[in-house]
Amino acid sequence: MRIVVVGAGMAGVQTAVALREQGYDGELAVLGAEPHLPYDRPPLSKDVLLGKAENSRFELDYGALGIDLLLDRSATGLDPDGRRLRTDAGELDYDRLVLATGARAVALPGQPAAAHLLRTHDDAVALRAVLRPGARLVVVGAGWIGAEAATAARTLGCEVTVVEAAPVPLAGALPAEVAELTRRWYAEAGVELRTSTAVGGIVDSEQRLEGTGGSAVLLTDGTELDADAVVVGIGARPDTGWLAGSGINLDDRGAVAVDAALRTSAAGVFAVGDCASFPSARYGVRLTVHHWDNALQGARLAAANLLHPGPEADLPRYDPVPYFWSEQFGRMVQYAGHHSPGDELLLRGDPEADGGWGALWLRGEVPVALLAVDRPRDLVQGRRLIERGTPLDRSRAADPAVPLKAA
Ligand code: FAD
Repeated sequence: MRIVVVGAGMAGVQTAVALREQGYDGELAVLGAEPHLPYDRPPLSKDVLLGKAENSRFELDYGALGIDLLLDRSATGLDPDGRRLRTDAGELDYDRLVLATGARAVALPGQPAAAHLLRTHDDAVALRAVLRPGARLVVVGAGWIGAEAATAARTLGCEVTVVEAAPVPLAGALPAEVAELTRRWYAEAGVELRTSTAVGGIVDSEQRLEGTGGSAVLLTDGTELDADAVVVGIGARPDTGWLAGSGINLDDRGAVAVDAALRTSAAGVFAVGDCASFPSARYGVRLTVHHWDNALQGARLAAANLLHPGPEADLPRYDPVPYFWSEQFGRMVQYAGHHSPGDELLLRGDPEADGGWGALWLRGEVPVALLAVDRPRDLVQGRRLIERGTPLDRSRAADPAVPLKAA
């Protein structure tokens, strides 16, 4: 049997590792578009940007694992009936295929080449080179990536302005009343945060009449911000364009739509990580999760299902409590679960006080999601309660002195 994995990021590489751990001894190839040895992305916006690490490669011996690593090679098309993958260096036959092509950073319309994105190793190295003390950096987008880029730049002594179209930072991830509580982090770190402010365009130095170097960020309110460097962190989209014409079902956001066993609409083809969306029985919605833990857990389940010996009806289902973390302005921010607009919000602790705080989302008495700021124990305990659907006593849950345990 030959299993081919497309995408050499966290999800693809972990699927290959899990296949070996789970006893698969057949042919195994992992195809990666980038020329670099596979690497982890979270350190890119942290240690790599800060210059504390040169790279974030996975420490794996691919030869010893019997993984045929085909780097600098892109999948360009798929014929699921013929079980054939087209690549920019010829075709590959497979018996089972795993799609793990991740996501691509979204650029602003007409974004000049001099503006930075932060998705790949090369992006991080290029950005790091311009983060010198005193450099003026404009960050477009106050989401997870924007906040982490601003954190690193400030630590390196840059003058940082963050421009966000929404009224609050982290608007895509948290309700406004919680997201608003992170605003002061920017001010305390000496970062200027301009919310409800859209960017109309970026003009790089070649295009500027006065040749001052750097770029001008044009805001729709007429303001012009001078910048030595600009980084755009406005989101990422599943990297699935190459599947056009393959017949593989995508969802309305372009992610590969898998079933609960992580199977695509084509026989023998699975999908994991940032490129896929799965039906969450736990939350009753289809979820696309662009976070590290999903790439790891999904990979393990996909490997088990690729090798599953029993009837298809017995395939294990993927139904995680999603989890992620972000390191912002000296704080560890962690989130588990999934909240919806109708869920009741309960604050835990005082966001202005030292010692961290959190937020819980309840459906009835049962927690469905948790945000923990500098409270890693809350995260571990709360995640367990969410997984088990354990009811909580509201007044105890709001008191940070009381451990997050069952009522
Ligand atoms: P990717 O890591 O995107 O890997 C996909 C790979 O597929 C890429 O290497 C790509 O080159 C390759 N590929 C794409 N198309 C093709 C093709 N046609 N042929 C061959 N190869 C192809 N998550 C957290 O939970 N916490 C964090 O703190 C955190 N920090 C992050 C910081 C940064 C800067 C970034 C970018 C992400 C961060 N994440 C974080 C998210 C996390 O890294 C991702 O969820 C995770 O990398 C997803 O893994 P993946 O393998 O699905 O996709």
